[in-house]
Amino acid sequence: MSVRHTKIVCTLGPASSGRAVLADMIRSGMDVARVNMSHGTHTSHARTIRLVRSLAEQLGRTVGIMADLQGPKLRTGVMQAGGVDLQEGASITLDLNPEPGTESRIPIQAEEFFRMVVKSDRFVIDDGLLELAILDIAGTVMRAEVIHGGLLRDNKGINLLNDRTAVSPLTDKDRVDLEFAVQQEADWIALSFVQGPENVAEVKGLMYGLLPAGSMPIPVMSKIEKPGAVTAIDDIMALSDGIMVARGDLGIETGPERVPLIQKDLIRRCNLAGMPVVTATQMLESMMHNPRPSRAEASDVANAVIDGTDCIMLSGETAMGRDPAHVIRTMASIVTAVENEFATPPLRSASDADDPAEGIADSVARSTVHLVDAVGASAILTPTASGGTARNLSRFRPSVPIVALTPNPRVRSMLTVHHGIQSLPAEDHDTSDEVIQDAIDRALDSGLVEEGDRVVITAGTVIGQSGMTNMITVRSASRPLFKGVGQGSKRVMGSCVQLAEILHNGIIDPQDCILVAPKFTPECIEFASHSLGLITGCSAETVAAMLPEGCTHDWLAIYGAVGDFSRAAECRTLIMDTITGRVFDLAQVRNI
Ligand code: PGA
Ligand code: MN
Repeated sequence: MSVRHTKIVCTLGPASSGRAVLADMIRSGMDVARVNMSHGTHTSHARTIRLVRSLAEQLGRTVGIMADLQGPKLRTGVMQAGGVDLQEGASITLDLNPEPGTESRIPIQAEEFFRMVVKSDRFVIDDGLLELAILDIAGTVMRAEVIHGGLLRDNKGINLLNDRTAVSPLTDKDRVDLEFAVQQEADWIALSFVQGPENVAEVKGLMYGLLPAGSMPIPVMSKIEKPGAVTAIDDIMALSDGIMVARGDLGIETGPERVPLIQKDLIRRCNLAGMPVVTATQMLESMMHNPRPSRAEASDVANAVIDGTDCIMLSGETAMGRDPAHVIRTMASIVTAVENEFATPPLRSASDADDPAEGIADSVARSTVHLVDAVGASAILTPTASGGTARNLSRFRPSVPIVALTPNPRVRSMLTVHHGIQSLPAEDHDTSDEVIQDAIDRALDSGLVEEGDRVVITAGTVIGQSGMTNMITVRSASRPLFKGVGQGSKRVMGSCVQLAEILHNGIIDPQDCILVAPKFTPECIEFASHSLGLITGCSAETVAAMLPEGCTHDWLAIYGAVGDFSRAAECRTLIMDTITGRVFDLAQVRNI
C-alpha cells in the first residue's frame, strides 16, 4: 500500500459545506480542513467543523481543523446578486455603507483603509484581478477610477500597491475569532499578514489566556504574505509552530517573480528547523471551473513536493470550485506520482551527526530512519504521548510512513499537517512489550502494514512521558496464532506439542515444549507441569478446578486462547508471550 507523504489542506466554503461532498473530500484525501474566518459566520463554521469531525470519525480517518484568522486584510463587502461587473475607465465610489454594492459603488469593510491611502495611490482587488486608482478621498468616502475591470464578487481582498502598513496586526474580529477557534478546539490556528514575531507572541498570549486550565496549547502557523515577514523570518519562525507560504497576497505584495524563490527559501528553512510548512494558493486554480488542471499547475504541485513542503493547500478550488473532491483526487495523484519517483533526500544524512548539541531524541530519530533502509522496513511505528517522537522522525523524511500511535485524539489531529505521519488511536499500557504489540496489531488492522512486513518501532521506555525517546527495535508485523490471557510475565520459545502426539509417541522430554490443548483435560496435567508453557482454550478457573486437591500451578500459560488450533499441527516452534497474551509461529516471525 502506497501512502502519500505530502499532506493536503482544503479550504472549506460554499462548495464544500454539505455532508455528501465533505465525506467525498475526506475519502479523496483531505488531511486538513481550513476554516477561513474571512468568510462565513461562527454558526456556519461551528456546523462545518462538527460535520467534518463526525464524518472523519465515521470514515475512520483523522482530519485536522485549521482556523485561519483573517488578520488586517482589507476587504470589499457584499455585491448585488453576488457579483457585479466593473467597467474599465468607470469612476466608482467606495464607502463603509454595508448595502450590497453596484456598478458605481463598492462597500468597504475596513475603516482603516481610508487612512492608509492618499490620492493617486493604486490598489488591487481579488488577488490583483481588478485594479483601481484613487481620484480623491473625503473621510471615509473615496472616488476611484477602474484601471483593470472585471467581475467583483462578495468580500474580496484588497492589496495596496504602496508600502504603508499602518494597520494593527490583530483586529477586533481576529480576537473574537480566536476565542471561537479555542472554543472549537481547532487543531491549528493560522495567522494572516504576520509582520513580525510580536504578532505571533500576541496571538499566543491571548490564546493561553483563553485555554481552559490543563488543556493543550494550539499550535500557531504564521502566514508569510508581506515583504516584512520575509525579512523577519528567523524571528517569526522562532515563535511559530508552522509556516505558510501564502503565495496569493505574497505575490501581490512582493511581485510574482519573488514567489518561487521565497517558496524555496521558506521550505528549506522549515525543513531544517523541523517545522511544518504549507505551500498555498493557486495550486490547481483552473480546476475551479475545469475538470483538468493546466500542465503548469501540475508542475507547480509537483515542484512544491520536490521542494520538500509538508502540505499543499487548496483554496477556491475546494471552497467554491465545481468539484472539490475531484480536485483533491487530482492533487493526490500528482503527489503520489512524484513521491513514487523522487525519494525525498534525507534532510541531513544519517551519517552526518554534525550537530554536537543534538539531543538523544534527535539521534534516536536519525538512527531510526537510517535503520529503516538498512533492514528494509515498510513502516516506522511510534507510540507517542505528545506526538514529539513522530514530529522528530518527520524531520528526517523517512521513505516509509511514520505511524504515530497515541491515545490523545488532539495529538492525532495536530499531526495531520506533518509530512509522512499517519496516526492511529492507541491505549495506554503498562509495559513496553504490550505497547509494541498493540502498535503492531493496530498497524496491521489499519492496513498501513501487511502481515510479515518488517517494521521499526521507536518510543520512549518511560511510557506516557514525552521527550524520552530512547528505544528502537526491529520486529516482524505478524498476527498472533493465538490470543488469550497470559499467566506469568515472560516471553519463551519452545517446540509445539499437542496432547495427541504425546499419547501416540509416548513420553518425550517436556522441558523445551509448549503444550497446545484446545481443551484442557486431566491427562494434560502431568505434561503441563513439567513443560515450558501451556496454551489452552479453557479458562484459568476451569483448569484450576481439574487439579488435584491442594495442587497449585504456576506454569506459564495462555488461558482462554482464541485462534486456529488446527494450524498448531503445522507449527514446529512457538513464541509464547505471557505479558501480552499472544502466541506466534516462529516460521512466520522474522527478527522478532
Ligand atoms: P488567504 O491566504 O487565502 O487567506 O488569503 C493565502 C494566501 O494569501 O496565499
Ligand atoms: Mn492571504
